[in-house]
Amino acid sequence: MSTRQKVMLILVGLFISYCIAMIIIITVNFRDFGIKGAEKRAMLTAEIVRSGLTAHMVNGMMDKRAYFLKQIENNENINALWVVRSQAVVKQFGEGFNNEIARDIIDKKVLKTGKTVQEMTETATKSMMRMTIPFTASAFGTPNCMRCHHAQEGEVLGVVSMVIDVSDVRGSSFVTIMYTTLFAVFIMLLILFVVNRFLKPYIHIFYSIKEVMQAAYEGNYSKRVDGGTLVESKAVAQMLNTLLEKLQMVFAEIDKKVYIFLQNKNSAQNSDPLVNINNTIDQLSEIYKFKQTIEHDKELEDIYERLASVLKNKFLLKDFSIIEADTLSGLKTVVYTTNGCHCQVEGGECRADRINLMVDSTIFDNTCSLFQQPGLHYLCIPYSISNELNLIISIVTKDEAESLHVRSLVGLIEDYVATAQPAIVSKKLMQILNKMARVDQLTGMYNRKYLDEFADKGISQALRSKTAYGILMVDIDFFKMINDTYGHDVGDEAIRTIARVIKDSIRKSDIAIRFGGEEFLVLLHNCDRDYIKNVAEKIRTHFSKQSISAGTESFSKTLSIGTVMFPDDSESIWKCIKFADMSLYYAKEHGRNQVVCYDESLFRGNDMKNQF
Ligand code: GH3
Ligand code: MG
Ligand code: MG
Repeated sequence: MSTRQKVMLILVGLFISYCIAMIIIITVNFRDFGIKGAEKRAMLTAEIVRSGLTAHMVNGMMDKRAYFLKQIENNENINALWVVRSQAVVKQFGEGFNNEIARDIIDKKVLKTGKTVQEMTETATKSMMRMTIPFTASAFGTPNCMRCHHAQEGEVLGVVSMVIDVSDVRGSSFVTIMYTTLFAVFIMLLILFVVNRFLKPYIHIFYSIKEVMQAAYEGNYSKRVDGGTLVESKAVAQMLNTLLEKLQMVFAEIDKKVYIFLQNKNSAQNSDPLVNINNTIDQLSEIYKFKQTIEHDKELEDIYERLASVLKNKFLLKDFSIIEADTLSGLKTVVYTTNGCHCQVEGGECRADRINLMVDSTIFDNTCSLFQQPGLHYLCIPYSISNELNLIISIVTKDEAESLHVRSLVGLIEDYVATAQPAIVSKKLMQILNKMARVDQLTGMYNRKYLDEFADKGISQALRSKTAYGILMVDIDFFKMINDTYGHDVGDEAIRTIARVIKDSIRKSDIAIRFGGEEFLVLLHNCDRDYIKNVAEKIRTHFSKQSISAGTESFSKTLSIGTVMFPDDSESIWKCIKFADMSLYYAKEHGRNQVVCYDESLFRGNDMKNQF
């Protein structure tokens, strides 16, 4: 029910109550007034009867009183009138000609008590009043009653009873009520009309404001207030509409300016622009803090660690890996993992990286053959960092619900990855530069600088983890002759050939270093003496079979290798390298084209050994 209807209903209710009260008051008053009037008329009639009867008595015309009483009874509104004598009067003068004795109990009562009795009789059509009034004896009036009556002062000599019709009072009260009610209804309709006309525009603007404010509360600021026709309501509507326009404009501006900084605009979208702005500013502030932090990170690993902590703490991901994909070499490296990477990406081709689209196992089972954990789902999301580098975030989920949750985070994660992108690129560049400083340009093998660093970090770690390294010192036999015979370019080609042979003969986990001109150091990871000997022999025989071209000619060369085992032969890496060199020297001394494994007995009494 609208407010206008409510107001109208209240007004109608009040008017009906007013009318009912008015009708009751008028009815009661009219009745009272009618009864009092009839009482007065009855008293007057009684007085006339008493005076008339006295006059008849004084003039000795009591036998003529019937005519007199009939004339009075014929009076309008008097339906009946009779006179009753008391016992004393009956005794003195007889019953009279018209049987003037008590007709009913009221007559008897008034004769006895001397008190007037009045009684109303109401029917559907008539209102009758019965009134019985006593006549009492008095010696002080004129004439003196005692002159004729043998009675005491105050004694009831008789009564006059009459029945008076007071229906006319009821009729006139009904007419009055009818006119008054009609007038009240007319006034009520008039007031309702005026109130309705007066209230309508105010109620209209009230509802319009309510509707517009409700929409604004729900985030829709495009609705406008309808001011209606009143000057005041138009002014209010204009003020509110201007405010709403300002808000809408400001929100649109903020929306345009703020979202530029977010890659993933949809993640913050809500129907309410205020909520949107708040979410976006929250998101921006967090991303800005993240950006500030990673800018001060020293190593690329620190940035990945930071990114991982966002994934863990902000997005509550429990099981994920961050994988670097080198787009040029195709090499994949797991750079961060929470519970160990569940896919064999390092050895294979990553589907998400290849198709550059998210791979979701909940959409299609066994999408990726590299994922190794049956019963678990995975979402692998590729992010392009530079032309040379992609990052794949591989997230493992337990069920479809968790996958759905992760899917909703993809855009938000993208914001963080995009924020980290410049720092990753610059750190990666630094890594490449650092690597280049540690790589020999001619062979692509590590150089001495790398060996120095590895000797510091890698070897101490190997000692801690008790990992053995086989060390090979490789040198081409009579290399100088190549340079001298064919020139330096052919000498360089011979160096590249031996580098290739070494690389082909070792595993990924092994390390090959160009130690000097045509001298190479090989570190075989986690091996025994037999393995060392086998690899060394493999390199030696393989190289001897290589044909090195020198213009129209071609030739082959041999090489010598000295081997040692770290930390079995010495816990000092540099000592081991020296032992390998000594073994190489021994091989050279004893005919070249051979592998010599370090044995202390070979150098017993040798001064070289004592140099360390
Ligand atoms: P040996 O059998 O005793 O090893 O005899 P060798 O002639 O091989 O002697 P050595 O290993 O000492 O020879 C090293 C030579 O390698 C010296 C240098 O002229 C040459 N050399 C060093 N670096 C390069 C390079 O980058 N390119 C070329 N072409 N030659 C180089
Ligand atoms: Mg040599
Ligand atoms: Mg040499």
